[in-house]
Amino acid sequence: MKKPPLILTNVLVFIITGAIAFIGVPVWVINHGIDWAEIGTAIFLFYFTGMSITAGYHRLWSHKTYDANIVVRVILAIGGAMALQNSILHWSSDHRIHHRHVDDNDKDPYSAKRGLWFAHIGWMLREYQEKRYDDYRNCKDLQKDKVVMWQHNYYLPIVLAANFGVTGFLGWLNGDILGMILVAGVLRLVLVHHVTFFINSLAHFWGNQPYTDANTARDNGVLAFFTFGEGYHNYHHIFEYDYRNGIRWYQFDPTKWLIRGLSYVGLTHNLRRVPEERIEKARAAMQLQRASEQVSVLPNAEELMHTIEQEYELLMQRMSDYYAAKKRLMKVKQKSLKRTIEGLELTYKYKELKHAFAVQKEKWLQLQSLSLQAA
Ligand SMILES: [Zn+2]
Ligand SMILES: [Zn+2]
Repeated sequence: MKKPPLILTNVLVFIITGAIAFIGVPVWVINHGIDWAEIGTAIFLFYFTGMSITAGYHRLWSHKTYDANIVVRVILAIGGAMALQNSILHWSSDHRIHHRHVDDNDKDPYSAKRGLWFAHIGWMLREYQEKRYDDYRNCKDLQKDKVVMWQHNYYLPIVLAANFGVTGFLGWLNGDILGMILVAGVLRLVLVHHVTFFINSLAHFWGNQPYTDANTARDNGVLAFFTFGEGYHNYHHIFEYDYRNGIRWYQFDPTKWLIRGLSYVGLTHNLRRVPEERIEKARAAMQLQRASEQVSVLPNAEELMHTIEQEYELLMQRMSDYYAAKKRLMKVKQKSLKRTIEGLELTYKYKELKHAFAVQKEKWLQLQSLSLQAA
């Protein structure tokens, strides 16, 4: 099949910025040196612009996982433009299609099934989407956001002012305009490009699938470290309306911490989370599926399957009981009835059910590892 024509602007932007970052900057540093102000600014802008994409473009605008104050929205819109990944409106439109038609080679704009290179950068190099380039019907909600439309209409001036104006001005203050533009402007831009592109490429290839194998998305703690927390991509694809990607406190997700932190000072609101019970259910269903597949090839498959199914049923039962009790207890707490007889009884019952659920979960996990060993 004939490939569509190259998009010259994009090809040149990637080649020129890449060459400056990987050849020009090292040569410059060897000849002129680098100072801490330049390194510090580059690191700051790396996080600022990268997280404008993850917290802004991705979790705020594409998925509406929380609401943000206008000041936050303007800052994220500027940071996102500085990351040079097209406007919020365009990016979100592509991304919503990616979720809706994930891995569909004809519809998903960066389908991982077309290979690592395509998902990483190849999709932007040719006119693969010429027909639907300006079709933003899946982002009607975003077209009502003045900040989104302002950024879309003045995208290029904002990009230039933010990338050259800001870094140039800081360089002037520091006594070396070109040095600052090279390090905190171009090198930082290229690094942010590739680490955020990893979310479309590597996060669909490398890692495990604890929640679903219905698509290629993976959870990967190493990748999360380089992608501002977006490495928990398997979770994200099944529960895209959660403002968190790494749901455990120990999972590295600075984007989640930023959104949460801003909520404490009233700058973000309505942070959406998927109820714990649904998350646990998805994980258990995936484990059941894996165990069935592994056991099916064994000589005593039927007998083993029977045990697994029985334990799974019991797990589901214990899980429902526990979460129902938890809900009741929350209600009692809200009404400040915790110290009444009813409240005390409920607390006792809750603890009992929590324990029963934990025991069954432990048993279930042991059964998982046994079937793994047997297979
Ligand atoms: Zn994805
Ligand atoms: Zn997403």
